[in-house]
Amino acid sequence: MEKELLLMMPGPVPIPERVRLAMSRQAINHRSAEFGAAYADCVRVCKTAFATKNDLVIISGSGTAGMEAAIANVARDKEIACIVNGKFGERLYKISQRYGKAHEIKSDWGTPVNLEALKAQLEAGAQVVTLIHNETSAGIKNPAEEIGKLCKKHDALFIMDGITSIAGDTVEVDKWGVDIAITGSQKCFAAPAGLAMVSVSSRAWERMTKNPPYYLDLAAYRKSAAGTPMETPYTPAVPLFLALREACLMIEEEGLPARIARHQKMSKSVQAAAKAWGLPLFPKIDKLHTYSSTVTAIEYPAGVKDDDMRGIVKKMGIVIAGGQDHLKGKIFRIGTMGAVGAPEILSTLAITQHAMKKCGYTVKGDGVEAAAEVLG
Ligand SMILES: *Cc1c(COP(=O)(O)O)cnc(C)c1O
Repeated sequence: MEKELLLMMPGPVPIPERVRLAMSRQAINHRSAEFGAAYADCVRVCKTAFATKNDLVIISGSGTAGMEAAIANVARDKEIACIVNGKFGERLYKISQRYGKAHEIKSDWGTPVNLEALKAQLEAGAQVVTLIHNETSAGIKNPAEEIGKLCKKHDALFIMDGITSIAGDTVEVDKWGVDIAITGSQKCFAAPAGLAMVSVSSRAWERMTKNPPYYLDLAAYRKSAAGTPMETPYTPAVPLFLALREACLMIEEEGLPARIARHQKMSKSVQAAAKAWGLPLFPKIDKLHTYSSTVTAIEYPAGVKDDDMRGIVKKMGIVIAGGQDHLKGKIFRIGTMGAVGAPEILSTLAITQHAMKKCGYTVKGDGVEAAAEVLG
């Protein structure tokens, strides 16, 4: 019997059945009232999840398409301060290098942002700042509000990747002064991969490059979205929009505050399991930085091999993530995003606990029980 694997990694995440069914149908015209209504539903719910009144457009492409759209439209030829404390911060830095004069504000993965270096870069004339709100590679949440204040003070545009925070954690795009915020469909929205949602402030519209990319021209997306029916400039991934609409309706039904509280509880339960096992969480947090509410990065004990441990977990039907790049073999990551809950988390933790034992690590205490206490 071929059995589906349960994805408890930081995206993609399991897709609820009604979301899958929403895209399993005959093709529809993307220049129709029906498509326009679906797009409008997505935008309405996204604006709530972003906490923004800014324009919001949806691009057919994964989260990285949204990241590149942001940089290519407002940061071309500009001085860009790129905050890097993990893999995705590095990605925004690499994209920035292609379009402008990128300056890396670097700290070790999973350690606090170097705010002093950022201030220095702003004083030296940085016009754009990039930040990963929830750095998925390291399980750390960065101080977006604080950084937004610095951007405002120095009149710099603030680009924030909220790909693993928006719709799963508190995000306040308008309050924090985020000029361009980005998320992706396959993370906290629990929709299929392939759509990037991007909000754009009036300040960002005023500072658009005169030389935008063609496919990722944000102004073209705004223009098409302002029409009746609401449209995209080119043929969008229609089935994905229909699926995202259904995922958005589920978010609306649950209510955003309840959804965020649920995500916080889920991540707290995994943190409690790690503590019971006697395994440290990977991020080094401080007053401004916290553990992620959507992905928990846990350090491996000496002697436990990543491939072996996650291999056992996978054989029993669940996929958790390892570390990326230099963190491979050093950490493993459990995603708690989207439509999952106690059944998925507790089975993941039970199997992980078993795999640890098989790999020669005797856990200090029962992580499953500790997590159940939090979830119950
Ligand atoms: C997953 C992720 C991305 C990349 O998204 P893709 O959909 O793979 O292009 C970007 N930033 C963060 C923080 C992510 O977790």
